[in-house]
Amino acid sequence: METPLDPASLVCQADWGTVFSPRSWEALWGSAAASDDTQPHIKPFSYTTTWEAVQAAAKQGCNWCRLILLPKCTAGKVTIQLWREKVSDCTPQGERELSVKVQGECCGFSTQNYLLYTTAGNPAAQLIAARDRITDLSTPESFRLARECIDRCLTSHESCPQPSATTLLPDRVIDCSDAHNPRITLTGGSKRAPYLALSYVWGGPQPMTTTTNIDKYVSTGIPLSILPPTIRDAITVTRSLGQKYLWIDALCILQDSGADKVRQLGEMRRIYRDSYLTLNAACAASTWEGFLSKPRPQRIPHARVPFRSSSTAAVGVVCLAKRLDTDAADASRTYWDELEPIAYRGWTLQEKLLPPRSLVYARDTLKYHCQTDVVSIGGALCEPSTGMRLPRAIYDSANEGKGTLSAQERKVARQAWLSIVFMYTLRQISHEDDKLPAVGGVAEQYAMVTGEQYLAGLWSGSLLFDLLWSVHSAGTDDAKKRRPARYRAPSWSWASVDGLIEARWLEETAAAVGANLRQAEVVGFWVALAADEAPFGEVRCASLRIKAVVKKGVEFAGKGINTIVMMGAGMSGGVNLRQ
Ligand SMILES: [Zn+2]
Ligand SMILES: [Zn+2]
Repeated sequence: METPLDPASLVCQADWGTVFSPRSWEALWGSAAASDDTQPHIKPFSYTTTWEAVQAAAKQGCNWCRLILLPKCTAGKVTIQLWREKVSDCTPQGERELSVKVQGECCGFSTQNYLLYTTAGNPAAQLIAARDRITDLSTPESFRLARECIDRCLTSHESCPQPSATTLLPDRVIDCSDAHNPRITLTGGSKRAPYLALSYVWGGPQPMTTTTNIDKYVSTGIPLSILPPTIRDAITVTRSLGQKYLWIDALCILQDSGADKVRQLGEMRRIYRDSYLTLNAACAASTWEGFLSKPRPQRIPHARVPFRSSSTAAVGVVCLAKRLDTDAADASRTYWDELEPIAYRGWTLQEKLLPPRSLVYARDTLKYHCQTDVVSIGGALCEPSTGMRLPRAIYDSANEGKGTLSAQERKVARQAWLSIVFMYTLRQISHEDDKLPAVGGVAEQYAMVTGEQYLAGLWSGSLLFDLLWSVHSAGTDDAKKRRPARYRAPSWSWASVDGLIEARWLEETAAAVGANLRQAEVVGFWVALAADEAPFGEVRCASLRIKAVVKKGVEFAGKGINTIVMMGAGMSGGVNLRQ
């Protein structure tokens, strides 16, 4: 955004003298109170004009009149009311939102909320905290800003885990000290050092470490010429952040060894949880795309208007961005992290939830996520993250192995788990068998804190409620509701079907369901794991025994559907659900 020489030229004479006069704009914006959170609502400012005047000024190029023009309103009086609201979910903190209500005589009203930002050095920057995006992420300045975010986290975020001097490296890591000759280091599971991890979309074939090339990759290194752009970018970032070791699944797991896969996949929680930082290649749909030098659009504001304040002698320019843009897929207007290519893949959900800190190479700019902050580098306007963090009580290592969560913490944890299942089942898994392993790291983190037993996607402490999942009808075709060809999980687990799973929070909202559930009792259960080294991975078979009131039923077998019709009054009995 370039500041025009004359901000007055951005709006019509009438607006310049009314809504953009220093008196009204400042009354609204409250220069003295701009950083004062005790005044969330400054007195609204309103003025009246006519649609005819607005239309004429819009035609002549007035940015403000163009913004407030409603397509269906054509004639008569119109009242415009502006007020400011405190915004707590967008960053940088201290940003304010401008609400504009337009009410025409000929029709109803429309209210739109705008987030404000400006460029560094603009007179408006004294009062407006948010800046324009940084779109070139391969410059030394971008790396410096990224390091600044990490340093701030390490020195002043009390809730963010500190990197530990005793962190064990994963079994294999890539030593990036020689940019031209990255090589695999075998750590023997006893070497201690900080390392970065990479979360990315494979998106097709790529070079992998196998039992046949591992010796070469260790002794002479991985040929740079075979490495895809995303891997090369990750090595560049690791070095630019002053780090030496990098963990990448394709290269640090022996991809042709079933035994090594099981062992390493059982370590996923620890690998991401203990990383100094995780690089999240959010914008790349394949490892061949890279993430550093992707073209990124500058944000196109919905309007540029003057910013006048008596506390700043010069007149500034401020950009208005719609808070929620219906065309959310367009990164030049707004940003939504669930639309990134990485958000469509199953494995990457836990790679987002488990790291203490992540640099997210998004399609708009570089973002920093930790257990405290979600910010864009350089103080750029950052929409609230639509992604989620693990609940603090679950993430806090001080709670591990204790099983001492309060009732409130347990409630938050369970609600979050249900959301995770929902978000996870929205995503795609390339291999059917990965359904349980790909979210196993999160399950393990839960188990470590709650002490509950994990039963193929369900929890021993809330088992009766956990059974009440269903396949969401929206966006799920019938094929997706079917069971996989090969056994994957017991029929009572959501992991036994594809499709979007809705496991609703019923404990409070449906008292009747709770009452009915009290007539049931879990008598016993067991789960046989596919591999003991992966207690949160694949299962071989499972059993659940419930004692409850049963009704006599008749089973009708139809076209692939079995229907049980209940008959008569309830009678006591038991039912075995075994598969
Ligand atoms: Zn105007
Ligand atoms: Zn932090």
